[in-house]
Order: sequence, then C-alpha cells, then structure tokens
Amino acid sequence: MCDKHHCHIVPPHILEELAKRGSVSCKKTLNDTRRILHKRTTVLNNLLVREQGTAKGNRFIYDCQNQAKQRVELVRKEGEPNTKDTTVNSAYDTSGFVRGYFKNTFGLNSINDKGLDIISNVHYGTDYNNAFWDGDEMTYGDGDGIEFKNFAGGIDVVAHELVHGITQFLANLEYQGQSGALNEHFSDVFGTVVKQKYLGHDVSQADWLIGDTVVTEKFPGIAIRSMKAPGTANDFDKQPDHMDGFYSGPANQQGVHINSGIPNKAFYLSCLEIGLDQCALIWFNTLKTLWRTAEFDDMLDVILQVTKKLQNEEKVGNTAVKAIENSFSSVGISKTIV
Ligand SMILES: [Zn+2]
Repeated sequence: MCDKHHCHIVPPHILEELAKRGSVSCKKTLNDTRRILHKRTTVLNNLLVREQGTAKGNRFIYDCQNQAKQRVELVRKEGEPNTKDTTVNSAYDTSGFVRGYFKNTFGLNSINDKGLDIISNVHYGTDYNNAFWDGDEMTYGDGDGIEFKNFAGGIDVVAHELVHGITQFLANLEYQGQSGALNEHFSDVFGTVVKQKYLGHDVSQADWLIGDTVVTEKFPGIAIRSMKAPGTANDFDKQPDHMDGFYSGPANQQGVHINSGIPNKAFYLSCLEIGLDQCALIWFNTLKTLWRTAEFDDMLDVILQVTKKLQNEEKVGNTAVKAIENSFSSVGISKTIV
C-alpha cells in the first residue's frame, strides 16, 4: 500500500487479513489506495526540485468532511484557537509537537528544513482505516470504530507519518526492499521517540508500540507494531526481529513494513544501553548521511561512523559505539569490513 513515499501507517497485509475476516471498511480502505497513489507519482519530484524558502512551517488543518478528497475545507490555521472538533485539535496539537521536537532537538526547520507548511487532512473518507503521507501532506481517516479509531489521535502515528516527509527530504530512501525497510524504520524510530517525549516516559516506562491508540479492543492485537518485540503486536504481525527471519518475497514492496522489525529491534536494544536521547541524536545524524539506495549494511557502516564522530565530540558517551555495534550484531547485522 505504499508507492515510493506514499506511506500508510497500517500495512496492507493487516488490512487484507481483516478484509478476509469480513471487514468491509478494511476492504474499502484497500481499494481506495490505488486512486490515492495516482497523486504520488508527480508530487515528490516537483517538491524536490521546487525552490522553497518563504514558508514558515505553519500548520493548516483541513476537514475532508468524510469525502475521499483532500483539502475540502480549511478549518484551522497556525495560531488560531481550538475548534469544537477534537480531531482537528488533536491533529493541530500533535503535528505542532512533532515540529517542535525536531526544531528544538536538531534545529530542523519543519519537514524539509526549509519551513515547509504542515498540512493535515482529517475525517478523510468514510470509515477509512488508515493514515498516510503522500509527498507533501498528511491525511487521516477516522477509522471504522470496529477495528480502528481516529488516526489523528495517535502521537506515534502522526510522528511516523511526518517523519516519512523528513526522510524524503534528508535521505530520500527508496520505498522498496531494504532501503524501504529503513525508510519505515526511521519513521517508527522517531514515532516512538516523539511518543515517549509527548507522554513523558523514559525507556523503562515506554511500551515501544506503534499505533496502540488507533486500534480498538476488537482488533486482534494490541498495536500495529512493536519495536521491543517485533512480530507480536497482532495476529498478522510478520515482523522478524533478526536477519534469520528476513523476508525476501515480493509482497509489501519487498517487505518494507516487515523487515523494518530488524533495525527496530536494534534501536530498542541501543536505547536500553545508552538511552533515548543519545540514540535519537545518532539516528538523526545517520538519516542525514544515508542515501536513496542504502541497505542494512550501509546503515551499519554509517551509524558506526556517525557514532564514532559524536563520541569523539563528546556529544554521546564513550560506550556508544560498542553499544550500537552490539545491538546490530544481536539482530544479525554485523560489520563485514574492519
Ligand atoms: Zn510508514
């Protein structure tokens, strides 16, 4: 359900399995995807070549009024007070929190570091069971209330999707195979980092789940993914937590939402060793260095170089390189060149 950087939070195999069990809204959500993908084919290139610099990273929230159309009615702009619609307010607040985290922590000026406006569409479609970033804006369904609920209410979902935008501009990781799994990985990494900051949790209190607040009690699982225990979040969670379980089939753009479990587990293990903030700094600098076709081995090379540099500059502790190396080795990603 992802094409290039057209990235949904709920992977297709979960929607397919729910559709098989009789969910009409999951089937509809899947069917809608092809139409949305159409937009994606031109928007990325346009954005990457377009001169920007006048925008101020302002938030714009549009109400889709349950139509399968974006930007139906502008209902809240930067600086305007709360509306009566809690979904509008939560999209405004959470996107502002994500923007603030990246600005205050890394000095990033909005999604593209050039003040790109942050556009969110809420109430997209009817019973729409997904949220997506399609190259230049965010869109959230309300969920069918049966298996999924308001996607704009999940801070990790909002952060995950906006980080697809950040990845697009920093590294442009190609959305297939290992580079695509890394693309997904960075969104989950900063989805969980921002969630822990938002909730005031430390690594021991955190649940390390992605999308736990957008699934209902009826959903056959507790979340969409788990970074602590990939493969355990729901009945259809296929994520491996080690290279031994690497998925090499064609589904889901060669497993972008599946194999991301492997580096996700490495991130979790690293955080236990050196803490969330040091890991966030290391991962952010790694993302800035990676390139479109980077694979897991490239990720390891770059992350070790980045960590070594940060360690020499005393921006991370002197055990960081060893901790990162061990965490990747634990999931079966090891250095081949010494
Ligand atoms: Zn994603």
